[in-house]
Formats: sequence, C-alpha cells, structure tokens
Amino acid sequence: MQTFGYGRAANVHQALAEGMAADTAFLAGGTELLNWLRLGITAPARVIDISRLKELEGIERLPNGGLRIGALMRLSDVAQNADVARGYLVLAQAILKSASAQLRNLATIGGNPLQKTRCAYFRAADVLPCNKRQPGSGCTALHGLNDRHAIFGWSEGCVATQPSDPAVALSALDAVYVTEHRDGGRRIEAEDLHRLPGKTPHLETTLREGELIVGIEIPEAAPHSAYLKIRERESYEYATVSAAVALDLEGDRIARARIALGSVAARPWRLREAERALAGAAVHDSTVIREALAVSFAEARALTHNAYKIPLAKAAAARAIRLAAEARP
Ligand SMILES: Cc1cc2nc3c(=O)[nH]c(=O)nc-3n(C[C@H](O)[C@H](O)[C@H](O)COP(=O)(O)OP(=O)(O)OC[C@H]3O[C@@H](n4cnc5c(N)ncnc54)[C@H](O)[C@@H]3O)c2cc1C
Ligand code: SF4
Repeated sequence: MQTFGYGRAANVHQALAEGMAADTAFLAGGTELLNWLRLGITAPARVIDISRLKELEGIERLPNGGLRIGALMRLSDVAQNADVARGYLVLAQAILKSASAQLRNLATIGGNPLQKTRCAYFRAADVLPCNKRQPGSGCTALHGLNDRHAIFGWSEGCVATQPSDPAVALSALDAVYVTEHRDGGRRIEAEDLHRLPGKTPHLETTLREGELIVGIEIPEAAPHSAYLKIRERESYEYATVSAAVALDLEGDRIARARIALGSVAARPWRLREAERALAGAAVHDSTVIREALAVSFAEARALTHNAYKIPLAKAAAARAIRLAAEARP
C-alpha cells in the first residue's frame, strides 16, 4: 500500500478545486481505488473523499420523462429504486448481477463505469509488459492468455476489455454522464466516456483531470429491456460477455432496437448496424435477428484464445432481444 494524503471535500466546489491538483484521485465507494493502491496500479499523492457529498445523491424524474441519478448513489439503492426497477429494467438487472451484495452497498453508480480492466497482466503484482501499466512496455496478453479479452476495437497496444455491467446498460439506454469541472461542466454520451486503446491504452476515459461525474441522465423509460450476463458462475463473477437490450415495440414489430455488448471491447460496444437492420422486423423472427446481428459482427476479430466469444456474444445478444421483448412494464 502506498502512502497518500487524504482530504474530505465539504462540497462539490471544494472537490473541484482540490481535484485540480496534480496526482489527485477522487474516492467515492473506494471499492476499486483502494485495490489499485494496494496493487500499485496507481499512486496518487492525494485522495479527495467525495463520498459524503449530499449534492451528488438522489434519483429524480426529469420533466422530459427521463431520470437523473446522482453519481454517489450506491448501486444497491439504484437497483431498488421504484422508478429504475419499473422503467429501466436493464439497468436494475445489470446492477444486481454486479459484484456482491456487500460491494453493491458501497460502490457508486458514478465510480462503477470508471473501474479498470480485469486483465490479469494489468492486475498482477509481478508486472509483465503492459502498456496500460507502463506505456511503451508492450502487451503481454496480445500473444499470451487472452481468452477473456476483446473481440472488437482492440489494437496491438492493448486487447483488454472494460468490465462494468452497469455501463453496458447505460450505453443501451443512451444515458449521458453529467460532469462538473473547475473550467466548466459538460454532458458526455455514454458511448463516448471510454476510449478505445489505439496507441494510448493508458488513457481510458475522456474525463479531464479533476473532472467530476455529478449525475447520470437517462432520456426515457425503457420498459422492454433486459440484461443478460454470461459468466463462469452465476454469482460474484465478472462477465465473459454480456448483452443489454432496449426495444421500442409496435405490436410484434421492433420500432427501435438498442443493443450494447459488454466485456467484448474497451468500452460498451453498441451494435449500430444490427440496430438499423432490426427496425421494422418482427420481434420473434429469429432468422432476421440472426442476420441483423451478423452484420454487426463482421468487424469482430478474435485473438489466439478467444474465438469462442464471437458466437457466444452473438447468441447472448439474440437471447437478450427475446428477453427484452418478453419484459412487461
Ligand atoms: C471483488 C469485486 C468484484 C466485482 N464484480 C463486479 C461485477 O461483476 N460487475 C461490475 O460492474 N463491477 C464489479 N466490481 C466493481 C465494482 O462495482 C466497482 O469497484 C465499483 O462500482 C466502483 O465504484 P466505487 O464507488 O467504489 O469507486 P471508487 O473505487 O471510489 O472509484 C473508482 C474510480 O472512479 C473515480 N471516481 C469515483 N467516483 C467518481 C465521480 N463521481 N467522478 C469522477 N471520478 C470518480 C475514482 O477516482 C477512481 O478513479 C467488482 C469489484 C470487486 C472488488
Ligand atoms: S491487454 Fe492491455 S491491460 Fe492487458 S497486458 Fe495488454 S496492455 Fe496490459
């Protein structure tokens, strides 16, 4: 464990001011950050505790019919909220399939999408070449143990995946991360929060130094939605692949489909071509669904040990579409 300075912000204004100092990290639930400190993944000079900022709590309905969730809301409180459970089933399911009950009581919805990859080389105490840990050192997973790694959007510099479950649901819901920064806040579309690795895999998100996620807004309810998580055991396990689906239905036809896959890339991966191809399709037409998904998977690229993930992710997406169609508000 590294030594570091500790301060508790009294309000958002103070958090933003203190967050601008070099080598500073925000502490929300601490369930990720403290592991990074223990493993030597990060070594901030100072940690700013934001966990008691009441301004970042609460869930409220927006005038446009959407929902705003405070960044410091604990995962368990988000999943149990009546509006979320009723109108945003895909998010409630993704949360309830994340981590353990104890962790969900501590972890926050703002901190969760900022968790880092589970790539074993990245998390190892004995560090092998890893461009995320040490830029320019190489990627051991590229030709090493890569059975859990990416099939979309990877580069020779890094083949890791982003493991958050809620982030996948938020992507399918077209959520927006609302931020504050000393130089001004902004709204970041869920799909734009995480970066693809390219030549700079150590840069994982589009957040600026000292930028604070204050809330997450979801534009409209998605009653026909579902989250399917495929994993090696049914509890307390990260996804091998996952699929989040939100459907707008007109009778038995799909008016609009939104599909995001998890644990297949460095960010939640939207299947845009498949979404377009599914508009107007009969929701129970498995041939049309299979063909639509195939279009999006044309760009999937397997590594040496993870070719199985391509058919698995395709099947997960198809099944999640069925589950979403069957979901009743
Ligand atoms: C054993 C274990 C199993 C897990 N299994 C799963 C799983 O199956 N699925 C899953 O999705 N997750 C899983 N997790 C991850 C867990 O959900 C995350 O650790 C947690 O959600 C992170 O939230 P936190 O509030 O504790 O973040 P913290 O640890 O406090 O912070 C994480 C990062 O986010 C930054 N941060 C936090 N809040 C903000 C904010 N508001 N604005 C800007 N930056 C911020 C911090 O500075 C830090 O860089 C697991 C974790 C553990 C330890
Ligand atoms: S996949 Fe990424 S995180 Fe894993 S060893 Fe390669 S560079 Fe590091």
